[in-house]
Amino acid sequence: MKTPHFAIIGAGTAGLATAILLARQGHYVTIFEQVDELAPVGAGLLLQPAGLAVFEHLGVLAHTLKLGAKVTGLEGKLADQRLLVNSHYHQAGNHLYGLGIHRATLCHVLMQKLAEYSSQINWRMGHGIDQIQESTHEVRLIGSYQQQKFDACFDAVLIANGARSQLRPQAWVKVDQAYPWGAAWSIVPECPVLDSEILHQFYDRSKIMMGILPTGAIPSAPQQRLSSIFWSLSTTQLQSFLKDELAKRQWLKQVSDRWPDVAEWLKQLLADQQNQPQWLSAQYRDVVMSQFGQGRIGVMGDAAHAMSPQLGQGANMALLDAWTFSQSLQRARKNQQIDWAMLWQHYHQHRRSSIQFYQFLSRLLTPLYQSDHWWAGGLRDLVFPWMYQIPYFRKEMAITISGLKTGMFQQLDYQQIAHYQEEEDSLVSSNESITDY
Ligand SMILES: Cc1cc2nc3c(=O)[nH]c(=O)nc-3n(C[C@H](O)[C@H](O)[C@H](O)COP(=O)(O)OP(=O)(O)OC[C@H]3O[C@@H](n4cnc5c(N)ncnc54)[C@H](O)[C@@H]3O)c2cc1C
Repeated sequence: MKTPHFAIIGAGTAGLATAILLARQGHYVTIFEQVDELAPVGAGLLLQPAGLAVFEHLGVLAHTLKLGAKVTGLEGKLADQRLLVNSHYHQAGNHLYGLGIHRATLCHVLMQKLAEYSSQINWRMGHGIDQIQESTHEVRLIGSYQQQKFDACFDAVLIANGARSQLRPQAWVKVDQAYPWGAAWSIVPECPVLDSEILHQFYDRSKIMMGILPTGAIPSAPQQRLSSIFWSLSTTQLQSFLKDELAKRQWLKQVSDRWPDVAEWLKQLLADQQNQPQWLSAQYRDVVMSQFGQGRIGVMGDAAHAMSPQLGQGANMALLDAWTFSQSLQRARKNQQIDWAMLWQHYHQHRRSSIQFYQFLSRLLTPLYQSDHWWAGGLRDLVFPWMYQIPYFRKEMAITISGLKTGMFQQLDYQQIAHYQEEEDSLVSSNESITDY
């Protein structure tokens, strides 16, 4: 019986983490990525304790900590200087913390780990997949490489190609729509006027929202600590953000009328003609699916459950998908046969409620920060301080931000995710090697 061979579509957080876990279990993996090279692009993201538990399980946490920026909590300030959000990870568990990290660093540590399994991994960079066909014994992928069509067969495929995926089975998709709001963002040298272990947010009603996230360093410049700035905008305004000197002055005035110390720092950044911050825009999607896998096809990461980044859970959820898939696969494996029905039953049982919880909360909370509703900001400013007075809610909020919730009253255990015991039963026999498709 030959070793199972998986195809993974997309070399983002979900795809890379899943590839490591599958290879570690002894499977073969071919990764299809549409871009030719994984460029060091993307803003900072916040890895929550749940995501860091998966990093510990993957064996990459120590490496990541050297480059990332430890974050102990989230503080959100209103225009009148009141602290609206004041959540700290220790409220969820004594040893918990988050990690601000550049997307390039995240990919770098996962790729370095993956290199340890090179005999089991086929890289197919520059290969875009257009179509998936499933039959009883295999899955066929059809795509293009350098304008030439190709097709290849695998035992199973995991679709991890991000929020705009056209590959997720349409029958499973309940919602797939763009958010009317996004953000302009930039990566700049570390902000010296704010606590460098806190994700700082600034809000005025539901119209103005700014985030400043400690982002650590990128592998090619480990000494230069960075911060990411996010400025929330409706999608119609994204392209014209800071387009000329007048727009810059107006933006700085908006900030300085509310948070003068931060405005002073931003002013200095914009005044440096040699190193002008590069602003890019991010747009978000809302994707809800009725199921995440069946038979030989699975969907994970943003492709399965894209949402607004309000709760900062995108990368964590992708990592939890990868971890849960590997656990489910281990359960469903009998010798070298895989019981697909058992695998997806286990996966849905352990993943569905958590995804539903965060999607529900994201849809509930996002309009309170980003919307044109006149009442949204006021309602938020009234309810949140009241909730923070009650220790139960304070703790629940911290657990929610940590990414560990699986429902209103249930949560994941960090140690259970982080734990890893090396498997003895490698699937790869010594005289077998990964086949070119
Ligand atoms: C360039 C970029 C920047 C980002 N910046 C941020 C950020 O600043 N903050 C934040 O919270 N989140 C950001 N995200 C999203 C964040 O990375 C995700 O929420 C999270 O990491 C889940 O990732 P994923 O693996 O599901 O998808 P992604 O990270 O989006 O990865 C999907 C991969 O699939 C590839 N792909 C797409 N279609 C095909 C196809 N047909 N065939 C083959 N390959 C394909 C893409 O090129 C991409 O590499 C960014 C994503 C990208 C791609």
